[in-house]
Amino acid sequence: MNRLVIQLSVAFAALILVVTSILAIAIDRLADSSFRRYLVQNQIAESGLSDRLAIWYAQHGSWDGAERLLSVGGMGGGYGQGGAQRPLLALADTTGRVVADPYSIVGESLNATERRAALPILVDRQVVGYLVVQAAGNRLPRAADLFLQRLRELIWITGGIVALTGAVIGIAIARQLIRPLQHLAQAVDKLRHGHLTARAVVEGPIEIRRVAEVFNAMASELVVANQQRRQMIADIAHELRTPLTVIQGNLRAILDDVYPLSREEVGKIYEATVGLRRLVDDLRELSLADTGQLTLHCQPLDLNQLLAREATLFRELAKVQGVDLQVALVPEIPLVMADDERIAQVVRNLLSNALRYTPAGGHITVTSTAHEQGVLVSVTDTGSGIAPEDMPHVFERFYRADHSRSRAKGGSGLGLAIAERLISLHGGQIGVESEVDRGSRFWFWLPAA
Ligand code: ADP
Repeated sequence: MNRLVIQLSVAFAALILVVTSILAIAIDRLADSSFRRYLVQNQIAESGLSDRLAIWYAQHGSWDGAERLLSVGGMGGGYGQGGAQRPLLALADTTGRVVADPYSIVGESLNATERRAALPILVDRQVVGYLVVQAAGNRLPRAADLFLQRLRELIWITGGIVALTGAVIGIAIARQLIRPLQHLAQAVDKLRHGHLTARAVVEGPIEIRRVAEVFNAMASELVVANQQRRQMIADIAHELRTPLTVIQGNLRAILDDVYPLSREEVGKIYEATVGLRRLVDDLRELSLADTGQLTLHCQPLDLNQLLAREATLFRELAKVQGVDLQVALVPEIPLVMADDERIAQVVRNLLSNALRYTPAGGHITVTSTAHEQGVLVSVTDTGSGIAPEDMPHVFERFYRADHSRSRAKGGSGLGLAIAERLISLHGGQIGVESEVDRGSRFWFWLPAA
């Protein structure tokens, strides 16, 4: 009973049966009463009673004593089989008040139905009274009875056929609805069992087509997400392997007395663990940002202050590297709503990248300007620049334009990915412009507080 096919066909058939029953009852009632009235009136007209009543009125000028005509009848022995049935007759005056009848309802007024069915009695084309038939309870003549019976049968047979047709139409409609739903369910089931290539056929009514389209889009996104997840795991394994190999190799060499157990050798191993720790910290931060678990302590922040502070930290390092570090800040910039520590982290990442890829004699400039949506910060260097084919990927996880060089310089390949997440968590945007051998300009803007 839960199946759509059954529910729809039963609903269709039931609806048609209900409508047919109501119609049948209505038609039956109407036909029955109209038929009776027609027959009785016919008979009265044939019997000439109304003519006799008209003559009576013409002679007497009133209806007094007219009931004699009604009871004696002149109805020619009634109608139907053997005259057993007689219609009940009443005579009413022009106002509709009963003035004569054989069963003494004299004085009562005719109701609307009786008035409609009443036969007017005319004298000199003037209505002088009404002859009323009250024959509802009587049996109809055989032929009429048979006719009504046939009519009833016909109504019920037609109703039955229409109900059956309704059920068939219900089944057809349900099937049309069900087929695309079944295909969709199969596709969902396949996907659930790991067949990521499963797609639903887009068919059926618009609503079901829409569900199939959304499902297909979701399945495609799932494939991409799955690939990214696998790539990420492969990348993490790869990134962990390198420092672990260094640590393991050096320890083995010390154990095998190839290297002496000196401060210098232990120092190298320690350095490798520092890199490892940094990588794990970066990964944790990225996953927290991805899952929305990174809490930002936002407050109105003066970016100029932050940039000056961070630049001071890097100035000494730049000097050692022979790189000139300049800060050019526009004093009138609005405050931004941001987490000081997180934005400082982004700036540090951009500055250390700039230092990493800028050779001695180069320049790094940190600027801040008012931006239509807040404050724009740029870190520009005159370093190696980024090749056009690498540009779209620099914010991706573990992406390094120059693999050997970046890793040798201690980069995890996660710095810019984290910066991108942090800036977008603040409602801002980060980007880069670069030219090979001329330098790069990394920028980000944050909305005003
Ligand atoms: P990494 O830890 O390797 O620096 P990032 O995510 O910070 O990772 O940077 C990704 C890659 O973008 C780097 O490996 C490098 O190839 C490129 N890159 C980043 N900053 C600069 C820059 N200032 N100049 C040239 N290349 C850069």
